[in-house]
Amino acid sequence: MIHEHDKIQSLPPVSEMMRAAGMTAKKQFGQNFLFDLNLTGRIARSVPNISHSTVIEVGPGPGGLTRALLMAGARRVIAVEKDTTTAPILDEIVSAADGRLTVIYDDALNVDFRALGIDEYAICANLPYNVGTELLIRWLLRIAHGEKITSMTLMFQREVAFRITARPRDEHYGRLAVLTSLIADARILFDVPNTAFVPRPRVQSAVVQIIPNAQKIAKLHNVENIEKITALLFGHRRKMIRGIIPNVDWAKYNLTGTQRAEELSPETFAQLARDLI
Ligand code: SAM
Repeated sequence: MIHEHDKIQSLPPVSEMMRAAGMTAKKQFGQNFLFDLNLTGRIARSVPNISHSTVIEVGPGPGGLTRALLMAGARRVIAVEKDTTTAPILDEIVSAADGRLTVIYDDALNVDFRALGIDEYAICANLPYNVGTELLIRWLLRIAHGEKITSMTLMFQREVAFRITARPRDEHYGRLAVLTSLIADARILFDVPNTAFVPRPRVQSAVVQIIPNAQKIAKLHNVENIEKITALLFGHRRKMIRGIIPNVDWAKYNLTGTQRAEELSPETFAQLARDLI
């Protein structure tokens, strides 16, 4: 009997499967593919507890990372792909995966995993750059509302990776860092040069890991209000906060009111959201 890993390993290289299927990268879907097995393996092996996890992959494309997730021992992989021209290639991987891989052809922004009966999952993806932050914000809000996402291991443009992991007073500190920090622990795992992608994008990338933090989530009051207060204050980055919201007893928050949004900690934003909105 051929072991399933051997079946996946003996599939032709991704680039060859693309050629055979006549598939080329499409700009409108944000397609920049990974062919380097060392890199896809490294990303997949970064998923915590992968052998006990259902892993959602957004945008498998021709399946480089999908194969790595299966090879790394994922219990189950559910891949959501908008571009149906990938189907002939992904079908071959589904056949080699002996029931561990399911592909859903849809826009990931529309898929409700709980409605599909998937209660607890990890996410791993080389995200399409045009919808990456939007997807991350949705996932964070779902976590805040009790959805069990155990970890997110995601490729972003390096600048977005900085915006996710930034601390107060950092140049990249803003709404994304505040929201992420109040729900999860995030860190950059490693940089990925643009030369790793086909076609090669202009910008550099990085893999970010975001682990939801149960203690932080228990303390969350109203995540929508946190979104509102960060939008309001970071909407006027250069202004003093007392000029944006008048008549606040700033001393209550150990502030004078002369600070700018970038100086406030995520916890202060949470307090302001609770008291002022
Ligand atoms: N995972 C593959 C890899 O690493 O080689 C492909 C990554 S490529 C950066 C992004 C993939 O996401 C593409 O296959 C693209 O078609 C798909 N995609 C783009 N927008 C999507 C969406 N809204 N929902 C699902 N998939 C999407």
